[in-house]
Amino acid sequence: MATDRELAERYGTPLYVYDLARVRTALEDLRAALPQPSRVYYSLKANPHPGLVAELRRGGARAEVTSRGELAAALAAGHPAAELMYSGPGKVRAELDEAISAGMRTFSAESFGDLERIGEAAVAQGVTADCVLRINAAGAPGQAGLRMTGAPSQFGFDLDGLRGERARLLARGTRIVGMHFFPLTNARDEEGLRAELAQSVRTAAELRDELGVPLHLLDLGGGFAAPYATPGERPVYRELRTALAAVLDENLPGWRDGEPVVAFESGRYLVGDSGRLVTAVTDVKHSRGKDYAVLDSGINHLGGLSGLGRLLPLSAQPLEPGPEHAVDAPDEGSVTLAGPLCTPADVLARAARLPGVRSGDLLVFPNVGAYGLSASLLGFLGHPAPAEVLVDGGETVSATRLALTRHAVEPFDGLRAKDANPMTETTAATATAPDATAPAWDEAYESLLHEVLPRLSAKGPLRPDSSLKAAGLDSLAMVEVLVRVESEYSIAIPDADLVAATFATPASLWRVVSALREQTVGPA
Ligand SMILES: *Cc1c(COP(=O)(O)O)cnc(C)c1O
Repeated sequence: MATDRELAERYGTPLYVYDLARVRTALEDLRAALPQPSRVYYSLKANPHPGLVAELRRGGARAEVTSRGELAAALAAGHPAAELMYSGPGKVRAELDEAISAGMRTFSAESFGDLERIGEAAVAQGVTADCVLRINAAGAPGQAGLRMTGAPSQFGFDLDGLRGERARLLARGTRIVGMHFFPLTNARDEEGLRAELAQSVRTAAELRDELGVPLHLLDLGGGFAAPYATPGERPVYRELRTALAAVLDENLPGWRDGEPVVAFESGRYLVGDSGRLVTAVTDVKHSRGKDYAVLDSGINHLGGLSGLGRLLPLSAQPLEPGPEHAVDAPDEGSVTLAGPLCTPADVLARAARLPGVRSGDLLVFPNVGAYGLSASLLGFLGHPAPAEVLVDGGETVSATRLALTRHAVEPFDGLRAKDANPMTETTAATATAPDATAPAWDEAYESLLHEVLPRLSAKGPLRPDSSLKAAGLDSLAMVEVLVRVESEYSIAIPDADLVAATFATPASLWRVVSALREQTVGPA
């Protein structure tokens, strides 16, 4: 059983740690708070880490995805495509094609145009897509949390717009199967949340009767709250289950038999408290009356989402508080926690209470399992991503590091269905997919491979997706290739990339080489 300090020593800081045991507890708590029977969708937006997604799937949650990267993550975690829900505004044809060919059939339609495009993609593959209509309703009075609907919005159909245009719901290739609401997020106030969900139930029943659209699936959204980057507990929704069951009984009496199936979605409630960020203080300084602690993690790793750190008070604690951290006087020990980025926006906390903080200290931001790393500005300034360590209770399950890699694209490749998954992790399991695009490598690379592996291009020009192993790449040849590319391009391939996936094909190796070349060819 490793402590956070031991994990930090083993993998370095900054470091995200996610505890699967907490994810299981959160799913149980959510189920206990919801009327049964009901379905829970995990919104991958909160954290697409494959280990978390897989744990929630094992617990019986389905997945709600909104992009090709999230689709790939859900499939990789073992979700059957037919059980996924695809939502989000602005779905483009390529992602719809990919989702449908993977076997997805359930979509949340955000507008008439969206519905038509879903239908066109379905028709092209000879199938019918089941669609829930995302409704932007006025909602209940006395709201809680961040309202998503009831005002002008890019999300969903306005109720009035739907009423006048019933005929447009008969889009070819689609079948309306129900409705989708997502009126709020992060609702701490149970009464407001109950009122909102009850209002959605009533609106759904009314719309069904008024428009004559079927209601087999009613996705009520969620809005279940969780603390973010600050100590605290998930709220307990004590009366939601009974109160909402009564509203469902009254308005949609078939729900207990699955007509409609009642569904909820959650991101932050399910994974928020599973994660923490361990970061090291790299410098402590005093500037014109203010104390600063500079951390090795900033808005590139946490709180980058719309500058959340500026809006919300994030807070870190010493990993192992010692006597030097005791508060002497009420306003002593107040420091600004800045990150390593060269921008004044890189502040994670102002006025953090950290008396006695020193260079080398480890700090922890709690409750950052949701909207942490993947909601941040990873590409900005090029610091590597923190390692993400998955633990289960005390056992370490996996450790991975997310990487942004640049690779060559063909004209129009950006819109094609089989593009690379943007959420690639540097594990041996990735990058083994056949790569049909011809990367722009140079002659030196080609002749070097040819010399070490004559079999490779015996039958013509070097193919990007040829298997290097089949061409005779054993461990000796691998070392030779490694040494020669490193000296040819004056690069050092990091240990993390010395995995089978790198040496799978000419293209996979070139991707690593060319990315390193770009880094070394920066401004002198
Ligand atoms: C963001 C989002 C969610 C998840 O929100 P949480 O507040 O993390 O639970 C669910 N559904 C939709 C449609 C969303 O946009």
